[in-house]
Amino acid sequence: SDHRLEYPLSPAHMDWSSHYPAFVDPDPTKTTLSGARKLTKDVEVVDIGCGFGGLMVGLAPLLPDTLMVGMEIRTSVLEYLSSRIHALRSQQQRLKAQAEPTEQQPEEELHDDDVGTTKIYPGNFENITAIRSNTMKFLPNFFGHHQLSKIFICFPDPHFKARKHKARIVSESLNTEYAYVLRPGGLLYTITDVEEYHQWVLRHFLHQPEEQLEDGTIPASSKDLFERVSDEELEADPCVRVMKYETEESKKVTRNNGKKFVAVFRRKADPEWP
Ligand code: SAM
Repeated sequence: SDHRLEYPLSPAHMDWSSHYPAFVDPDPTKTTLSGARKLTKDVEVVDIGCGFGGLMVGLAPLLPDTLMVGMEIRTSVLEYLSSRIHALRSQQQRLKAQAEPTEQQPEEELHDDDVGTTKIYPGNFENITAIRSNTMKFLPNFFGHHQLSKIFICFPDPHFKARKHKARIVSESLNTEYAYVLRPGGLLYTITDVEEYHQWVLRHFLHQPEEQLEDGTIPASSKDLFERVSDEELEADPCVRVMKYETEESKKVTRNNGKKFVAVFRRKADPEWP
């Protein structure tokens, strides 16, 4: 349960150094509030409920200079993913050592058996990591205001029954947190195979006609901070392809010929106060 979950007092206390050793700032005098070594850049991309990590393993070579973290509540799944990332990094190091002097291979899709690859990938998987966390509680402990450029929520647990809806990781209060950590222009990606959940997502990120009050106004909410990204834009976004075909859950849905519902929202600028 939560009392065994480790989380930093604030983002400025978070020790990322062991997660991204290749990105530790060479200046040892630069330290976090907890005294840990700082990185040369901030973590920018989060996969909420990352499961076995297919999304991050797929994204790692596409965004080799971007630090990404998967957050997962289940201990055994997190342990698997941590060792998967460790194995990928070790293998890349071995391949690089063998191939010196090296010419980087072109980007190619990763597959299930990616541990066992003979390719050198941009970024060598040094830019991804995984953390055990309950994102419903501790997201603002890890990430500061406007820190993130992308948040992914892929195939969230559907919690079908109405009395279980409060366990859904898309909700009005959580969306306020997502808006807080996401920078203006940043993107929040969602995908689900449950159409009803897709409708729920749309209802929670976009204003609905029935919200209009008698005087014609719509009450302010976190929905004011998001706008839906068009299908044309999504077609040109390689992250959408990874989300649709490379997460473990997406592969399961593909095998079962299931439908996939995608919705991506752009974080708008903060409203100006009068
Ligand atoms: N995103 C992955 C994929 O597409 O393959 C996994 C999808 S799986 C259906 C949902 C995952 O979210 C599970 O691994 C579950 O443990 C995790 N999860 C659920 N609630 C969570 C929470 N509050 N914080 C972190 N992870 C959570």
